[in-house]
Amino acid sequence: MTDEQLLRYSRHILLDELGIEGQERILAGHALVVGAGGLGSPAALYLASAGVGKITLVDDDTVDFTNLQRQILHTQARVGLAKAESGRQALAAINPEIAIVPLQRRLAGDELAALVATADVVLDCTDNFATRHAINRACVQHRKPLVSGAAIRFDGQISVYDLRRADAPCYHCLFPEGEDVEEVRCAVMGVFAPLTGIVGTMQAAEALKLLAGIGESLTGRLLLLDALGMEWRNVRFRKDAGCAVCGPSGDARSGGCPDRSGADRVSSAPACRRG
Ligand SMILES: [Zn+2]
Repeated sequence: MTDEQLLRYSRHILLDELGIEGQERILAGHALVVGAGGLGSPAALYLASAGVGKITLVDDDTVDFTNLQRQILHTQARVGLAKAESGRQALAAINPEIAIVPLQRRLAGDELAALVATADVVLDCTDNFATRHAINRACVQHRKPLVSGAAIRFDGQISVYDLRRADAPCYHCLFPEGEDVEEVRCAVMGVFAPLTGIVGTMQAAEALKLLAGIGESLTGRLLLLDALGMEWRNVRFRKDAGCAVCGPSGDARSGGCPDRSGADRVSSAPACRRG
C-alpha cells in the first residue's frame, strides 16, 4: 500500500477486524455490479470509496430525469448519458485510483457467465426476474457470492447467496423461477428515495465483508424492511434439495421446498430492484 492509500483507507485500517490485510483484500477485489439505478448507485459509491480495486458497472439504460430522485450516481447534467458511463464518472471523482469498467448493455448468456467468472463478488441491483435468475445461474455455475437487494414502494429486502459454500441456498431456492410471482415494474411503481439507499448501502456492506473475509454474511437469511413502520424482519431459509438450479440433480423438480415457510409469505415481495 502506498502512503496515500494508508491515509485514504486509514479509518478502515483502524478497525481491528479489517486492518491492513483486510483492506488489501478489498484493494485486490473485483466487484461486478449489475444495474446502476437506485440500488446500484449507493452500492457502487461505497465500493469505490472503500477501495474495491476493480468495479465492473453494467447497465443498458440511459439517465432519465425521473431517475434523479433516488439514483444518486447520476446528475441532472448527465441526463441522456449512458448510466454505466455516468456512474463511471461519479466513481472516478471519488476514487481515481481504482479501475472502473462501464458496460452499456444487458448481460446474458455466455458473456454474463464469463464476466461472473472473473468477479470476486456479484451485486444484483437489477429490476427484472429474468435477469436475476440469469445472474443466479452464473453465480451457481462459477461458485461466486451473490448479494441481492430489492426495493419498491416502502418495502425493501436483502440477502446473500454465498455460493462458494456447498450448503448455501441460491436465489432460485428462495424464489423458484416460473412460480406465480407478480412482476412489479418500477416504471409504474413508486419508491421511497432513501429506501434504495438503505438497501443498496447494505449490499455494499455485505460485499465488502465478503471481499475482506470478515464477519458473518446474510447467507441463509432474508432481511425484510418496512420503511413506513421502520421495522426489520429476519426470515431464515435453507437450500432446497430439489432446486432446479443448485440441486444435485439439476432437474426441474422445484415444486417442493420444505424450508420456505417464511419465504412463502414474501414470494411476491419487491420485484423492482433498480428502484
Ligand atoms: Zn438453489
